[in-house]
Amino acid sequence: MSSLYYFAAWTDSGCLLGCAQQHVTVISAVACVASAGGYVVAVDDGQLRELSPKEEIEFQFAMYGTGLLRDRPRALTPLKVLKPILN
Ligand SMILES: [Zn+2]
Repeated sequence: MSSLYYFAAWTDSGCLLGCAQQHVTVISAVACVASAGGYVVAVDDGQLRELSPKEEIEFQFAMYGTGLLRDRPRALTPLKVLKPILN
């Protein structure tokens, strides 16, 4: 059985720092992003990895909400991925 969790991450003085929680969702990890430039990192079976396109959309939505999509529809590059998720 695989384990997957997320944590809020940021850098300071060249070091990767993160919150101490093991968040079940990307959105709950976003709540721990405390500074500009903060991000969310996935830990999948003990290995750090970048967010998948679907997880990235969850991150962008949690950070910027629908206002960004309305005001700047081309601001998010993976918009075409939204369609398969909504189907
Ligand atoms: Zn956290």
